[in-house]
Amino acid sequence: MKTDRDLARQLASIERRGYPAYKSLRGSYDMGGFTLSIDHVQGDPFAAPSQLSVVVPARTAGFSRSLFDAPHRKVALEDVLIRRFAQAASRVSFKVGGSGKSGLLATSRPGPEVLARSACEVSRDGSITLRFEVGLPAHGRTVDARACERMLLDLVPRCVDEALMCDDRALAVAQRAVDLADDQQAVRDELGRLGLVAFVADGSVLPRATGVSAKPLKGARPFASPASMRVTIDLPHRGPTSGMGIARGITLIVGGGYHGKSTLLRALQDGVYNHVAGDGRELVITDATAVKLRAEDGRPVHDADISLFIGDLPDGRDTHRFSTEDASGSTSQAAGVIEALEAGAHALLVDEDTSATNFMVRDALMEAVVSGEYEPITPFVERVRDLWEQAGVSCVIVAGSSGAFFSVADAVIQMDRYEAHDITERVRRVCADLQAPQTPRAAGFALPQRERRVRIFGIKPQARGGRRGSDARIKVRVRGLDEFSVGGGSVDVRLVEQLVDEEQTSALAQCVRCAAAHGLLDGAHTAGDIVAALYAMIDERGWSAWSEHGDASCGLALPRPQELFAALNRWRAAD
Ligand code: ADP
Ligand code: MG
Repeated sequence: MKTDRDLARQLASIERRGYPAYKSLRGSYDMGGFTLSIDHVQGDPFAAPSQLSVVVPARTAGFSRSLFDAPHRKVALEDVLIRRFAQAASRVSFKVGGSGKSGLLATSRPGPEVLARSACEVSRDGSITLRFEVGLPAHGRTVDARACERMLLDLVPRCVDEALMCDDRALAVAQRAVDLADDQQAVRDELGRLGLVAFVADGSVLPRATGVSAKPLKGARPFASPASMRVTIDLPHRGPTSGMGIARGITLIVGGGYHGKSTLLRALQDGVYNHVAGDGRELVITDATAVKLRAEDGRPVHDADISLFIGDLPDGRDTHRFSTEDASGSTSQAAGVIEALEAGAHALLVDEDTSATNFMVRDALMEAVVSGEYEPITPFVERVRDLWEQAGVSCVIVAGSSGAFFSVADAVIQMDRYEAHDITERVRRVCADLQAPQTPRAAGFALPQRERRVRIFGIKPQARGGRRGSDARIKVRVRGLDEFSVGGGSVDVRLVEQLVDEEQTSALAQCVRCAAAHGLLDGAHTAGDIVAALYAMIDERGWSAWSEHGDASCGLALPRPQELFAALNRWRAAD
């Protein structure tokens, strides 16, 4: 292998040459202690930065096996290493200057969620791969070899030393993160054993500082479980930890406006992910398959069997095979339920704030005025018991305005000034005293049986620089948590609420590109097959499987299968 000396020599030989001369640096260099790879070199100083990686052998890094010998531990350790490297990099980024992105040195900057990311992979034997971006420095458009030498032979090794070597401080930080991950995993494992959909530890801080912040709200009222719902889980590190257990079945969250209902539900929907210490939601843990459902009028729907909820439409359309480029509130939410079931959700989370009212409930007076035969919708409230009893799908519903859900609920939580109360018994008494009508159970509950195949048009490779054939690339664009496009078609993910990190959107885009490249979107495969195939690829080959250039680069975070299903289901081909 080439060495750091070779790198220095090569750099000296391209000093002051045109920027493309940097391409000659591609390759791997033994830096004494670690390997530096220059994987992808940017075309000019203003283009997307170059992709580099370092590999530190297990012996050199020195993290003990117990920090990565289970999947959840490995992800926690990787997350720590990314955060440490990001911090070290930010201290030296732009230390050298120049045109465009000259001097940039950065890797992923994770938010509060702990996600598997392409920025770091700890291998089975403990070697560490850390991927990052560098703006190779230039004067105008000419190579600045001196500045580059400073970056690659001084600043990068400094970051590696500071972030990836296991000294006492690094060990303490890593151990704390891995211990927390152990505790979180223990709660996840216990959910099944205790028959719970979710656990919210006493003392958790649920609200965020602002509507656009992921930081905990200062001075918030810490969560406290109602005594009747309190369960205690013996965690491996924290020991006995108490909190509210939301049992499987149907749970209602009621309460006055502004009393914290949606905040609790939001914490539950985010509880499918692990959070870092200090977030406040570290021990808010939800069934990892749970899907937040909402109305999404305007979204496309492809060939969904929504007949469980929607019958004869005025235009005579068959709702066993419902497709539209512009769904209504109710049809979008009906499709959402069916798609969530297909995506393997064991729990649905619904907030009336973001639901289509006519999808959720229908009152007796409306029933009397617009008779059932003219109303295509069977409301959710009349199906939710069968979803649980026949399909085993639990539901947590925020319903502050309609009493129709009382008679179908197994448990009712009232949020009162951010305090949770178990009012299940009181609700029973009130309903009995008032002789409240029971919500009927709609007839004919049957889940869709048909195998639905995914066919996506419009992903065409675009030739680069006029060249055709093997050089043609499928163009991928990502706009944060809003949208991504792949070769002409696009997916609006703004209302896919459990997509929480922009790097997950990037990963979804790469998944769709990858699926297209493997011919999986030709109409012969079900969404389940496609999702399984994509996850099998990444299991086998790591992040390079989903990466465009063959070599993985930083910038991808693992989405859940549920979000991958959601993306495939929302595909919109360009006109
Ligand atoms: P609801 O859905 O019941 O109308 P929200 O959940 O939207 O109410 O909460 C209303 C406001 O109260 C939000 O601004 C939220 O940040 C704040 N809030 C929620 N929970 C707490 C808490 N435990 N302590 C302090 N403020 C809270
Ligand atoms: Mg609300």
